[in-house]
Amino acid sequence: MKPQAITPTPIDADARKSIAPVICYPVETLPRPDLRAYQAVRDDLELVDRVTVPARDAATWIVPAGHFCRLRCEEGPQVGDLNLFNANDISERLYTGKTRALNGTHVGLGDQLFSNFPYMRPIATITHDTLDWYGFDEFGGSVHDVIGTRCDPYTHNLLSHGGQYHHCCHSNLTRAVARHLDMPLTQAEQHVHDVLNVFMCTGFTRDTGQYFMKASPVRPGDYLEFFAEIDLLGCMSACPGGDCSAQHSSDVAQCYPLEVEVLRPRRVPEGWAPPAINGYDRTHGA
Ligand SMILES: [Zn+2]
Repeated sequence: MKPQAITPTPIDADARKSIAPVICYPVETLPRPDLRAYQAVRDDLELVDRVTVPARDAATWIVPAGHFCRLRCEEGPQVGDLNLFNANDISERLYTGKTRALNGTHVGLGDQLFSNFPYMRPIATITHDTLDWYGFDEFGGSVHDVIGTRCDPYTHNLLSHGGQYHHCCHSNLTRAVARHLDMPLTQAEQHVHDVLNVFMCTGFTRDTGQYFMKASPVRPGDYLEFFAEIDLLGCMSACPGGDCSAQHSSDVAQCYPLEVEVLRPRRVPEGWAPPAINGYDRTHGA
């Protein structure tokens, strides 16, 4: 429990609290993708790769720029923790903090996923989401968040007073990245980053602002699809929390594998070109 406030409430507290919020990043000037151009080419796709992400484990795959990628639930309700890297330079990777600041806490159709500084450009565009009907529920929950970090053995160790669990998403991603890049685990771990929580249903409680999860509404056959703006290395863990209705960081939850499909369109979307890295000159006023 957090302690009670110890500072006396000021006389104008109500007035201060009633000031209306403003959006941090007015995105009217943010370049938006032409979704119709993406939609126009996604009816005729050729499956070029299919990868199974085993339950309580992770897998990697490549999505060449200009291809689509579908993250699929096939057997039962299961959430996935997704990392994305520039396949040609893994120092560029998904930046969930800025993706969240620009798109909101949860992402869906038409949202773009941004990479870290100094690259900061859209690296993927979400082109289909069979859970887009969910919106926000009465608790403030929604799917596909960019607010959680990933379940990890360090937090588990703290909260369980010394527990050792090796199949948290952080460890699953670490093993998969180490395998893919043929590097030691300790080195691979440095590249694992905060995730897009695919299919996970989360929010912040209205009264205490605490991060919550609830049973994912995902059904077999559901998928989240994105278009690769640059060559991407994907890595996804099938979370040991399963549908995340109760707990993670243990072997208690029922877990299922997830499927990944890489699909090539017959032509690239009209007017599309891979985005250049960010145009800031990096002189920082010096
Ligand atoms: Zn997890």
